[in-house]
Amino acid sequence: IVELANVHLAFGSTEVLKGIDLTVARGQTVSIIGPSGSGKSTILRCINALVAPQTGHITVNGMRVDQMRNEAERIKLRQKIGIVFQQYNLFPHLSVLDNITIAPIRILGVDRAEAERHARDLLARVRLSEKAQMFPGQLSGGQQQRVAIARALAMRPDLVLFDEVTSALDPETVGEVLAVIRDLVKEGMTSILVTHEMRFAEEISDVVVFTENGLIVDQGSPEDIFQKSTNARIRRFVNGLA
Ligand code: ATP
Ligand code: MG
Repeated sequence: IVELANVHLAFGSTEVLKGIDLTVARGQTVSIIGPSGSGKSTILRCINALVAPQTGHITVNGMRVDQMRNEAERIKLRQKIGIVFQQYNLFPHLSVLDNITIAPIRILGVDRAEAERHARDLLARVRLSEKAQMFPGQLSGGQQQRVAIARALAMRPDLVLFDEVTSALDPETVGEVLAVIRDLVKEGMTSILVTHEMRFAEEISDVVVFTENGLIVDQGSPEDIFQKSTNARIRRFVNGLA
C-alpha cells in the first residue's frame, strides 16, 4: 500500500532524507524508531504529500505521490490516510461528536445521521461513548488523543499514520491510547507508527525500521531489531542508552 524508493529530500542545503526505501503491505504495522532529527516525521509527511522529495518514487494506494502536481490530487490522497499527531489539534469549539463528524459530512457528503451513527461506533471503539457531548477542553490528554484517533477513523482510511501520539501525554494516560492503537492493529488496520515506546513497538509491529541521520540503518522483525541486532548504535538506542 506504501512504497518509497530511493527518496531524497532536502530543506535548502540540509539533507533530511538521504535515500529511503520502505515498503508497507496492506494490513501491516510498521514502527519507525530512531533518534531525534533522524527524519521519522519527514517520512510520514512524504507519505501524506505534505512535503515533496527532490528525487525518488513514492506510491501510496496506487497513486504516485511524488508526481502529484496539484492540491486536488493531494487532498484526494489524504482523504484515505488518517494521521494522528503528538498535538491532537481538535476543534475546541466543537463537541467530541462534532469533531468526529465534521469531515465526513463536509468533505465526503455523508448525511448527518449516518455520520453520527458511525461516530458513536468509533467512540465505543476508543472507549469514550459517554463523552460524545463534551468539549475537548473538558477531557484529559489521553481522552483527547483517543478522540483524535476516532476522528481519523471517521474518514474510513486505508492507512493510519501515528506520529509520537503519546509523547505529550501524562504517563498515566499513555496506556489507554496504546490500548486503542493495539485494538486497531489487531483488527488489521494498516498502520505506520513513529514512536519512542520501545516495548509497544516490539509488541505490535510486523516490521521495525531504525532511522538515523536521514537513512534507514536497518529494518526487520521486532526480534531482529530489538533482540538480535548486531549494530552497536541500534543496541544502544533500543536499550535506552541514547
Ligand atoms: P523527532 O524525534 O525530534 O520528532 P524526527 O526524526 O521526526 O525527529 P524530522 O522532524 O523528520 O525528525 O526532522 C529531520 C530533520 O529535518 C531535522 O534536522 C529537522 O530540523 C529538519 N527539518 C524538518 N522540517 C524542516 C523544515 N520544514 N525546514 C527545515 N528543516 C526541517
Ligand atoms: Mg518527529
